[in-house]
Amino acid sequence: MKREPLTRMRIRSEQDVFTVRQLGREVARAVGLESQDQTRLATALSEVGRLLVAAGHETDVAFTTTTIGVPTLLVEMAHPVSGDGDRLRLELTQVSRLVDTLEVGDGETGTVVRMSRRLPPSSPALTPGRMDEIRDRLSGHVPGTPLDELTVQNQQLIAALDEVRAQRDDLARLNAELEETNRGVMALYHQLSDELEETNRGVVALYAELDEKSVQLRAASEAKSRFLANVSHELRAPVTAIIGLGRLLTDEASDKLTEEQSRQVELIRASASDLLSLVNDLLDLAKAEAGRIEPEWSDVDLKAVFGQLRGTLRPLATRPEVEFIVDEPAVPRLRSDEVLLAQILRNLLTNAIKFTAEGSVRLSVAAVGDDVEFTVADTGTGIPPDLHERIFEEFYQVPGSQALSGKGTGLGLPYARRLVGILGGALRVSSAPGEGSTFVVSLPVSP
Ligand code: ADP
Repeated sequence: MKREPLTRMRIRSEQDVFTVRQLGREVARAVGLESQDQTRLATALSEVGRLLVAAGHETDVAFTTTTIGVPTLLVEMAHPVSGDGDRLRLELTQVSRLVDTLEVGDGETGTVVRMSRRLPPSSPALTPGRMDEIRDRLSGHVPGTPLDELTVQNQQLIAALDEVRAQRDDLARLNAELEETNRGVMALYHQLSDELEETNRGVVALYAELDEKSVQLRAASEAKSRFLANVSHELRAPVTAIIGLGRLLTDEASDKLTEEQSRQVELIRASASDLLSLVNDLLDLAKAEAGRIEPEWSDVDLKAVFGQLRGTLRPLATRPEVEFIVDEPAVPRLRSDEVLLAQILRNLLTNAIKFTAEGSVRLSVAAVGDDVEFTVADTGTGIPPDLHERIFEEFYQVPGSQALSGKGTGLGLPYARRLVGILGGALRVSSAPGEGSTFVVSLPVSP
């Protein structure tokens, strides 16, 4: 709340400008403003006083306090002549920086300049008792001479200059510290970027090495395919000749052989047959790997393909405990290569028949999303999950797995997967020992 003034005075002459300055400082000190703020307020008062005296006005000065919000010291300087507001506002712009607020009121009753300065939180509370005490102290205030005031002002100036110097020294020290930190940061940055560069060089070298290795790998794989293709091609003719000669030896028209000779020739023929199927498989796989198989795209009639598979494979499914089922195709046609597709399904079905002792072997087809999925499901021995990828490696056969009929080469699945890849699809397996196996060939509807 606003209270009774702490003190008042009237400025009539230039001499009084010194007095209001001194009084202002006294009041500021009494209410608890810090030394620099005392000087600021005193300077503001003397400036306003000087301007008003120069205009020839007598001015009343009143010091009050308010405790609404933050405790604040208020000064009101009023004179009865109106119309002076605009000039004062212009001339007091600098002065307004010395206090928290400075307003100029201009009305019929005259002109008034109001200034305020908040008291620091450390200042003692302005209780009524304390206010009376301050009033008493101020009423006993005896104004000094202008010379006294000059002395005080000089002392304040020296103190202010000292302060400025101390701040400048502080600033210089801070700058030096900052520079030091900067140097540290730059050193760290250089170290980091050196390390990064080193790592980069390592990575680049590693990539170069990798590139080189993959070129070597590709070359090795091509050499392997070429070798396989050549060797198997070269082997085919003599092996076929051995089989032919064997047949000739046991022919009715040839000289009769002893029983033992017949048995041995039969053995030679069976071995040569096995060798021929191995050589043929190898040749197929080598061709597929060398990218020498170009699919011949056409509209494949799945009913016809399924019918053909049913016909050719039924003779292999001789065991009465195993039902061989080829479903009616749920998808009638597919854009694909008929020969390759039939080859893939034949490989899978032959395996299923070979490894199923009882239950069923079933081929079906269905549309699944954008794909056509062929499923070959059997109730045979099954394959342990950790070998699901290995069975697609060349020559790999599940250890201990015994084909119920015929011998395998370990090349059927790798070849089937190659062909599926050539047709733009994927071949996957799900199986567990004792639960049978399901091989799924998924091909895109539009390759
Ligand atoms: P293989 O000529 O030996 O059949 P594959 O590449 O066709 O060669 O198959 C590799 C191996 O995967 C087989 O030897 C067999 O151990 C296992 N296998 C393939 N199909 C089946 C199946 N339907 N049921 C059980 N095991 C299978």
